[in-house]
This record gives sequence, structure tokens and C-alpha cells, in this order.
Amino acid sequence: MRAAVLWRIGEPMVVEDVELEDPKEGEVHVRLAASGVCHSCVHAADGSWDWAIAPAVLGDEGAGVVERVGPGVSSLKPGDHVIISWSPVCWRCRYCVTGRPQLCERRPPFGYMADGTTRMRVRGESILHFGPATYATEMIVPESCAVKIRDDMPLDKAALIGCAVTTGVGAVINTARVPSGASLAIFGTGGIGLNAIQGGRLCGAYPLIAVDVADNKLEFAQSLGATHAVNGSREDPVQAIRALTAGRGAEYTVVAVGNIQAMQQAWDATAPGGTCVVIGAPPSEQRIQVDPMHLYRDEKRLTGSRYGSARVHDDFARLVDLYLAGKLELDRLVTKRYPLEEVNEAHRALVAGENMRGMLIFQ
Ligand SMILES: [Zn+2]
Ligand SMILES: [Zn+2]
Repeated sequence: MRAAVLWRIGEPMVVEDVELEDPKEGEVHVRLAASGVCHSCVHAADGSWDWAIAPAVLGDEGAGVVERVGPGVSSLKPGDHVIISWSPVCWRCRYCVTGRPQLCERRPPFGYMADGTTRMRVRGESILHFGPATYATEMIVPESCAVKIRDDMPLDKAALIGCAVTTGVGAVINTARVPSGASLAIFGTGGIGLNAIQGGRLCGAYPLIAVDVADNKLEFAQSLGATHAVNGSREDPVQAIRALTAGRGAEYTVVAVGNIQAMQQAWDATAPGGTCVVIGAPPSEQRIQVDPMHLYRDEKRLTGSRYGSARVHDDFARLVDLYLAGKLELDRLVTKRYPLEEVNEAHRALVAGENMRGMLIFQ
């Protein structure tokens, strides 16, 4: 099989012939149809996150078909269509059994399978898995990371649900639980922010305010349901949001960009009693300022959302149903398709802001 290998952080990936081992106990071999290109992987490749690893295969957003299953796998069989989750869970720890599997305490060590080894080799050298490693035509994942979906769901669309859609929609629906008619401001309208807008539309948030510095992205956000757009390069987003919310600020704010200034603005633009949800991960070691007065006097809440607080075995199927019912936009989110060989170009275009979402297509 073929995969894009990041040999050294900061250098371009190289597409290699990769030897894939057989699935072991509780593991699944998946033939991928498509992989989205996500900002997390850009950060991993350029080293702006200090937990980047190499040599590794990146990629956290894919869908495909089960090829084989290892011993003990009971929920899947060859031929099943699956969306890949980037977050393995144990299904048994305290967080898993109380409905918060994104906080699972018993994950495999990052970069490895549960037994502390990897399943990919190039010329004898062991290659790490950066998450599920979807920049590859085939992969081995833990059973909990291959989630069965309907056969009539197009796999290239399904791939988006593996990261951006679940993270963005989930932050609004699962983490913030925005009620109908509540004001909601989304900072950042990249792959995840646009899906947070979709989450706001599904909840019936109003006003639903998109904040970005690019007019073309703001226009697109409005086509997905944002009722107002604020260009942060021309006006102060905090003042603009207050002007749209009777001076209060938004009852819910979501930060879908790894930018410390946007996080600060979102916190400052959150109404008393309101909730600010942080999704974007900034470069390591940056901090925002929180005045404790705003916590106790204004009862403001600052929280995070990991993977949209998803319970993927429920959420993925629901998001697929919403797409097939015409209630969730996926088609227009993918602006360019690439063969695996052009993965570095897909990263460059994402950083340059040329794509809403780039997609690697394998079949
Ligand atoms: Zn991602
Ligand atoms: Zn667990």
C-alpha cells in the first residue's frame, strides 16, 4: 500500500510503498476511499505543536471499506463501510461509561497501537501513526476507530464527518447545547468553523454571527446559515457582536481557529451567563487572559470541546442521516480534490487559505 510519510518535522512528506502488518487482536484493516486534509496535520507537519511525531503517517479524517478484521472484533466484518474516528476509546473507563468518551482514560500511547507497536514499515523502519494515519490507501485501526455507516452514503463525503464536521457541529450541539433562538458567534470559518455554523443552523441559533478576516469565507459562512458576518480586519469583533446582541455579547461563542487573539476576543464577546467554547488549538505555550471577575460576577463559562464531545457510534450515523436528508451540507465544503502524491500541495493550499477543504481521493 501507499502512504505519505513525514520523515522529518518541517520537511515535505514523501509518498512511499508501505508494508502493512496484519490486524492484531481488536484491530481492523480498512481500505480508504478518501482523506480530508486538516489543520491538525499541518501543525504536526510544520512542528508548531510540540507533540508532533516523526517518522509518521499523518491524516485524521477518512472513510473507507473494511478489508479484514483481527481476532475478537465483533462489531465489523469485511465489506462494511466505515468512517474513521481519530479518537480511540476503551468503552470501559469511568468517562466512557458516563457518556464522555472523548475524555477516555485508557487510550493507546499516541503514535502507537494499544500494544505499543506500530503496523506500518518502510524499508524495515517502523512508522508511527499520527492518529489514525489516513494519508494512506490502507490502514490498521483499533475497532473503536472504525465506525460502521449506511452503505448508501458516498465515502468521499463521509470522510469529512471523521473530523471537521463532527468537531464543528458537535461543539455546538453536544458541548454547548445551544437552545433555539440563542445568540451564537463563531470565530473562524475554516473547515471546523463552517461546521460550527452548520451546528448553529441546526439548533436554530439567532443571531448566528460568523467572524473571520476573509470576505470570501464570510460569504460562504452566510450561505451555510450565518445570519450576520463580521470582518475582524475592518471592525472590532467584540463591539460588533455586542451591537448585534443588545449590548450583552453572544450567549454562546465558539473559537474554531488556533489564534490567541481570536480566543481573547471570543471570551470578551461572551455575554454574562454565557459560554465560550474553545476548539482551535494554538501553537504550544500561548496563553489567554481571563479576569476572574468575569467568572464569579458574570457567571461566564470557559470550556473546551474535544472532537465535538462526540459519541461517534451515535453521532456519525446521525450526521450521515442529516446529510442524506438534505439537512447538512457536505458537497460544497470540499473545494479541491487531490491524488495522494499531491499531499504537500494540499497542505500548502490549506495554509494559504485557498481551500475550504481539500480532499485526498484514493479510489
Ligand atoms: Zn482534524
Ligand atoms: Zn475509556
